[in-house]
Amino acid sequence: MIDEHHIDALEKLLGDKGIVTGREDMEAYETGARYDRGRAAAVLRPATTEEASAAVGYCVRNGIALVPQAGNTGLVSGSTPDGSGEEVVLSLDRLTRRFALDPDNRSVRVDAGFRLSELNRRLEEYELFFPIDLGADPRIGGMVATNTGGSRFLKYGDVRRNILGLKVVLADEAGTVLDLHSDLRKNNTGVDWKQIFIGTSGAFGIVTECVLNLERLPKQTATAFLVPASGAHVLPLLKAMEERLGAYLSAFEGMSKNAIAGALAHVPSLKNPFPGGNVPEYVILAEISRSWAPRDGEQPLDAVLESVLAEIWETEEAPLADALVGPPHEVWALRHALSEGVKHLGKLIAFDLSFRRGDIMTFCDHMKAEMPQKFPAVTICDFGHIGDGGVHFNVVVAKDSPLLADAAFEQHLREWVVAIAVEQYHGSFSAEHALGRRNQAFYDFYTPEKLKNIAAGLKTLTSPGKLGSVRFG
Ligand SMILES: Cc1cc2nc3c(=O)[nH]c(=O)nc-3n(C[C@H](O)[C@H](O)[C@H](O)COP(=O)(O)OP(=O)(O)OC[C@H]3O[C@@H](n4cnc5c(N)ncnc54)[C@H](O)[C@@H]3O)c2cc1C
Repeated sequence: MIDEHHIDALEKLLGDKGIVTGREDMEAYETGARYDRGRAAAVLRPATTEEASAAVGYCVRNGIALVPQAGNTGLVSGSTPDGSGEEVVLSLDRLTRRFALDPDNRSVRVDAGFRLSELNRRLEEYELFFPIDLGADPRIGGMVATNTGGSRFLKYGDVRRNILGLKVVLADEAGTVLDLHSDLRKNNTGVDWKQIFIGTSGAFGIVTECVLNLERLPKQTATAFLVPASGAHVLPLLKAMEERLGAYLSAFEGMSKNAIAGALAHVPSLKNPFPGGNVPEYVILAEISRSWAPRDGEQPLDAVLESVLAEIWETEEAPLADALVGPPHEVWALRHALSEGVKHLGKLIAFDLSFRRGDIMTFCDHMKAEMPQKFPAVTICDFGHIGDGGVHFNVVVAKDSPLLADAAFEQHLREWVVAIAVEQYHGSFSAEHALGRRNQAFYDFYTPEKLKNIAAGLKTLTSPGKLGSVRFG
């Protein structure tokens, strides 16, 4: 709780639409996409950078803790307040005015509260898009703070690769506005300061405006479900596709049988594309795309995909057991339903891991061999962005399992999985979801003291106030 006079002062700065204090009205801001349920002292909703600066400065001067929140789709307990009732949520949901497109530069300057879907809807008529694709609909500021990866990383990279400039409000007594705006792709005139605000979960400042790189909207897309001959054939299959398709290859996503079964059960309208409804042990979603319409005499993209698959089929290594070319919207509907599908199978313990590409399937096989002995009665429902080394390694426990009565069980399982991923395979415990309360302990454990000290120094220099859910130092 914060004192009533602070609420009055903040309302004066932001207007009556700019602050929420009713218990029921705050509920959506207190509830995370997956795990969390916190308690907010209030929710601030600035509509401009200037309002954000005034509110942040006020909070810092009065020792009020702030948690930035954008689309609230984050999965590591970063965007919601803790249970103390003392943290104030700073929401971006009214920061949606500015939309300044520069088609010649293939860039757009937007307020950080824009939803990804709304941004891409507005860009469609210019045949452009912001090329980060995922099964949720975040806001741009949250995507910057988490450095979202998504399903087309393989072709377009992550958010970091697509940011040209930022405007940031620092959590200091003045609510300093840092203008790191640039519409330039090439600019090496000193430290690239915007990088410290990308993927750092809002610890160093609140992103209020962004200049984004845009890409040409694909005009032809072809997709297929590929069944690899075995787990060991996934990487040879990826390499064979890269060799033959180069920059056409825009997604190479892996889906386990259990994850697909979860999606099919949860979304009955999904079509089961596999012969006889028999879902294979592991399936790859492959997509190829190009930005021009079919030209006379040019092979359509479906045919390109089919002929490349036929060629791979014939290779000596024979990494492919089966392939089903299908319409992109149907193929992607299954992929995008996986996350929600596994959530409905039982109690979900999710990991966002990454590895060298050659290690992903080895790690998954390692888990499949050892986990049943160590933690009987759990189900592995992994899927992931295999093309860029990412795996959403999900473990599901039946809701009536006695394991859940043991308070230490989940933590024990988490520590065991992460230790193998990080220590044996030199992977990352947070591939693309950044940091939050959920994975803070792994940051604390695995980050060298020297780096923590540097981060603490940066924090003091940028945002000495109480900001965000993560402690870097
Ligand atoms: C179904 C589903 C599928 C998903 N798939 C993917 C995927 O494929 N790839 C992927 O990378 N992620 C995925 N995610 C995770 C999530 O969507 C991303 O992390 C997303 O980028 C978070 O953005 P958001 O706007 O929802 O941010 P929020 O959840 O609101 O916030 C995330 C973090 O950023 C901080 N923050 C928010 N706004 C700001 C700001 N303006 N300035 C500074 N800090 C800020 C918050 O404090 C918090 O720490 C998925 C989530 C769901 C629910």
